[in-house]
Amino acid sequence: MLKHSKQREAIKSFLVGRYDHPTAETVYLGIKEEFPNISLGTVYRNLSVLADIGEIQKLSTGMGPDRFDGNPAPHYHFICRECGCVLDLSVEGLDHINVLAGQGFDGEIEGHITYFYGKCPECLKKTE
Ligand code: ZN
Ligand code: MN
Repeated sequence: MLKHSKQREAIKSFLVGRYDHPTAETVYLGIKEEFPNISLGTVYRNLSVLADIGEIQKLSTGMGPDRFDGNPAPHYHFICRECGCVLDLSVEGLDHINVLAGQGFDGEIEGHITYFYGKCPECLKKTE
């Protein structure tokens, strides 16, 4: 068990302090040096556990593989349709869209998952 929690700690610290929202494969390549016997499946499983217990976020963007975020606080994301990068947005909470979505709906809206997409600043520069 100790070995496993060590791996999980290493996976978590790999994510903390970076804002590029890596895939499980990037995390795997990053911690393989420290844990040569670890498999991609184990890394993915640990990432999912960390997301389930709220220590990180799993971003299922619908574009490419899941991405992982070391920042568990709620915030919105932008996905570039050109290069696939995932960036943090500094927009305030958009909780009023829960109210909008609930109009004319007899159930109870508890939340929403929203991704913004378009061209990132780097890709926009290239097209100019
Ligand atoms: Zn881009
Ligand atoms: Mn983020």
